[in-house]
Amino acid sequence: MLGEIPKVKIEDLPPVRGRYTEDAPLGAFGWFRTGGTADILFKPADEEDLIDFLKACPTHIPVTPIGVLSNTIIRDNGVPGVVIRFGRGFTDIEQEDETVLQIGAAALDLNAAITSARLGIAGLEFFSGIPGSIGGALRMNAGAYGTETKDVLVEAVYLDRAGQIIHAKTDDLNMSYRHSGAPSDAMFIRGIFKGEIGETPQIEARISEIKARRAETQPIKSQTGGSTFANPKPEELAAAKLPEDMKVWQLIDKVGGRGFKVGGAQMSELHCNFMINTGDASAQDLEDLGEEMRRRVYDDSGITLRWEIRRLGRPDNAHNVLLQ
Ligand SMILES: Cc1cc2nc3c(=O)[nH]c(=O)nc-3n(C[C@H](O)[C@H](O)[C@H](O)COP(=O)(O)OP(=O)(O)OC[C@H]3O[C@@H](n4cnc5c(N)ncnc54)[C@H](O)[C@@H]3O)c2cc1C
Repeated sequence: MLGEIPKVKIEDLPPVRGRYTEDAPLGAFGWFRTGGTADILFKPADEEDLIDFLKACPTHIPVTPIGVLSNTIIRDNGVPGVVIRFGRGFTDIEQEDETVLQIGAAALDLNAAITSARLGIAGLEFFSGIPGSIGGALRMNAGAYGTETKDVLVEAVYLDRAGQIIHAKTDDLNMSYRHSGAPSDAMFIRGIFKGEIGETPQIEARISEIKARRAETQPIKSQTGGSTFANPKPEELAAAKLPEDMKVWQLIDKVGGRGFKVGGAQMSELHCNFMINTGDASAQDLEDLGEEMRRRVYDDSGITLRWEIRRLGRPDNAHNVLLQ
């Protein structure tokens, strides 16, 4: 149980060239602007530093990689062990050939899109609509407007918990809708992406279009985490005798979810599959709101919604999950 993992201190950890911070305020740094601390936040200086750390860090200490927390609730009781935050040593974007880019895990998706546009590489502009990092995109198979990370990925490079470097071709990663089949201990350090030859002005125009469309349809200025739940699979909708193109926001809307509040957490009025911290939400309010939506949709249609938002940290044992 996560709640039972004893608190880790800097003296339990190997020496590194990067930076350790004890009791780092992680929640405040995420998109939801709420939640607890990391026992230890580690910002490795570079790839070698991270490898040395993983090799020497006792295996009973949990190690959790994060990106920019645009898809994650940090629980109020904090995250045990060491949280890895990829910083400057992992932001490089390098052109390998005319249409191929090697992109570091800490590079923002937006920067990947802007750089590829500048270099006349088409196909990566969908990244401009996703406010995460490349590491998060590889873990989540992030996608928008008909393209997913896996469609432009040639190879991902990750470290396992023992610090071994693994090169995985896209097919080996079994990526599907908002999911990567990479082992759960995989820490992505970079990806190799392939686009097509394009014209910079056209690619930039497409990026502007995406920006305008997002502003219209998503609460992008709010403290949110993107889509809360994944769309149900066609077979789940068929079993519930619902149209096979029905989206999760429609299921939430149908059960009165739009604008529904628990404490300071609210299902967005603009896009009711987005949860919002209206100002003073705890991470528990957000989780309770999500569980309430799951319970209502299950009672209404028999469909069990799957969280797309990741929840990290020690659960609050006083709260019951409303639906398993
Ligand atoms: C306004 C808004 C709009 C959004 N729109 C979209 C959208 O259109 N499409 C879409 O797909 N998503 C969307 N999202 C969700 C989110 O931006 C994506 O899932 C993004 O890929 C998450 O990246 P991140 O760096 O923020 O990851 P985080 O939230 O920090 O982490 C997400 C998961 O990835 C893991 N992770 C992060 N980095 C690494 C790494 N280097 N190695 C291994 N695991 C890692 C974390 O442990 C966690 O499990 C949206 C979010 C917001 C707030």
